[in-house]
Amino acid sequence: MRYVDEYRGRDFVRSLTEKLHNLSSRPVRIMEVCGTHTMSIFKHGIRQMLPKHVQLISGPGCPVCVTPSGVIDAFVELATRPEVIITTFGDMIRVPGTGDSLIQARAAGADVNIVYSPVDALNLAEQKPDKLVVFLSVGFETTTPTIAATILEAVRRKIDNFCIFPANKVMPPPLKALMQDPELQVDGLLCPGHVSIISGSESYRFLVEDYGIACVVAGFEPTDILLSIIALVKQVQEGKALVENCYGRVVTAKGNVKARTIVDTVFTPVDSEWRGLGSIELSGLTLREKYSSFDITKRLNIQIAPSCEPRGCRCGDILKGISQPPDCPIFGNRCTPGTPVGPCMVSSEGTCAAWYKYGFLN
Ligand code: SF4
Repeated sequence: MRYVDEYRGRDFVRSLTEKLHNLSSRPVRIMEVCGTHTMSIFKHGIRQMLPKHVQLISGPGCPVCVTPSGVIDAFVELATRPEVIITTFGDMIRVPGTGDSLIQARAAGADVNIVYSPVDALNLAEQKPDKLVVFLSVGFETTTPTIAATILEAVRRKIDNFCIFPANKVMPPPLKALMQDPELQVDGLLCPGHVSIISGSESYRFLVEDYGIACVVAGFEPTDILLSIIALVKQVQEGKALVENCYGRVVTAKGNVKARTIVDTVFTPVDSEWRGLGSIELSGLTLREKYSSFDITKRLNIQIAPSCEPRGCRCGDILKGISQPPDCPIFGNRCTPGTPVGPCMVSSEGTCAAWYKYGFLN
C-alpha cells in the first residue's frame, strides 16, 4: 500500500534497529506523549526492538483518558434529560464515571449517539428541531478546529438547538507541569504527530529552552518511531536538547495557522482539570462569550462535581508516567476491555488497553 509499506519495510526497520543498538549504552528514558504512539509502539513490537537501556514511558496524550470523572458524570446526567440527544465520538460512551457510563445510560433509555464528526451532530440538530443536540467536545489540538468550524457553521445555518459540552484541552501546559514534577525523570519526549500538524514543531521550543529536554516530533509508522527514538537517543548522548521534526511529510515548524485562527475565533483558554494531573492553568478551552449560547454548561447551568478515581484504579499515575499498567492491582483481572474500570482500559489510545491488547499482562 503506497505511503504505508514504505514506512514498514523489514529491511529498513532492521537497519534502524541495528543503528539504535550501536549507539552508546547510556540509559535513556523517553516519554511517548501521545496515545496513538503508545498503540503504534505496541502494535509494531517496537518495545521488543529496543536495547535494554532505552526505556519508553507512556504519557497523558489520550483525551478520553484525561477527562476527569466529574465531567463524565456530568455527561451521563445530561444524557438522562428527556429533551437532550447526546452525540459523541465512540470511545467516550464506555468510560465509567463514578456511577454509570454513557452506554449504561443508553441501555436505560437515554438518547446517546456515536458520530464521526461534529458536523453529523449539527445535521442531527437540524433534523430534530424539538430536541437539544449536544456534542461532547473532548479532544486536543487535532480535534478542536473541526469543532470550532462546526460552531461557525451552526451560526451560519442559524441552528440554535445545537450545543457542545466544552471539554477540549491543549498539550503544552500539561507537558510543562510534567517537566516540573520531580517524580517524573525523562530525558526526551516523543512529541505527538497529529497535534503537531496543527500546533507546529516550534510549539515545543519552550521545553528545550526552559527544561533542557530533547524533543522530537514523530510519525506513527514503525520507521517513523524508530528514527525519532534514534534522534532522541543521539541528542541525550551528545548532551543536546533540540526540537527536531522527524515527521516532516506533514508537520511544519509553524503548523496549521488557519486551523489555529478558527480555534482562536471560537474558543478561549481556561484552567482545566486533568485526570491524574489535577487542575492546570490555561490547559483547557471554552467558548468565547460571543458563542456562549452554544455552551450547554451555561445554557443549562450544569455544575461539575469534584472528581475521584474508581477504587483501586491507577489511571492517574499511569497518565503521569510514574506507573505502568501491571502496577495496578486490578489490571487484567477486574479491569479488562470487556469490564473496564478506568478510562485507560477503554480508549483505543489508552495505555492499559494497549498493554492488554498486545499481551503484556505481567
Ligand atoms: S487497569 Fe484499569 S483500573 Fe487499573 S489503571 Fe488501568 S484502566 Fe485504571
